[in-house]
Amino acid sequence: MSEAPDCIFCKIRDGAAPCFKVYEDGETLAFMDIMPQARGHALVVSKEHAADLFALSAEAAAACARTVKIVAHALRKVVSPQGVMIAQLNGRAAGQTVFHYHVHIIPRQEGEPLALHAAKPGNMEEIKALGARIAAEVEPVA
Ligand code: AMP
Ligand code: ZN
Repeated sequence: MSEAPDCIFCKIRDGAAPCFKVYEDGETLAFMDIMPQARGHALVVSKEHAADLFALSAEAAAACARTVKIVAHALRKVVSPQGVMIAQLNGRAAGQTVFHYHVHIIPRQEGEPLALHAAKPGNMEEIKALGARIAAEVEPVA
């Protein structure tokens, strides 16, 4: 894994910063977004430090896609959204704010607008509780 000492997602991966973890395997980590754009907003992060999709190995990209599926299933059981948005931003112009590859999993409800991106901390107790419930629903996906 390449080193990026100031990277918040590397710190979370290494246990040097906290997170509300929902899933982890050899290549990926998933945790709750602390500035959620909707209730249940989660992130899937590659353990490999890569700024964006273009810097990421194909293996890590595939591992993240698999984890997105696993976590999305668990999240859907807990939040029961009408839709689920998968988003991944590359570069400032695309709105990227953390330069370590990650994928957003955002539950959507009909008529409910998205909160602003990376703008306002959510209710940490609620996020923590939701994260624990999602983690408990994680199961292998064929
Ligand atoms: P992006 O703008 O696509 O790079 O998304 C970065 C996301 O990371 C935003 O949705 C932020 O709310 C979220 N975020 C930033 N710092 C943390 C953190 N320490 N724990 C969880 N989520 C975070
Ligand atoms: Zn990093």
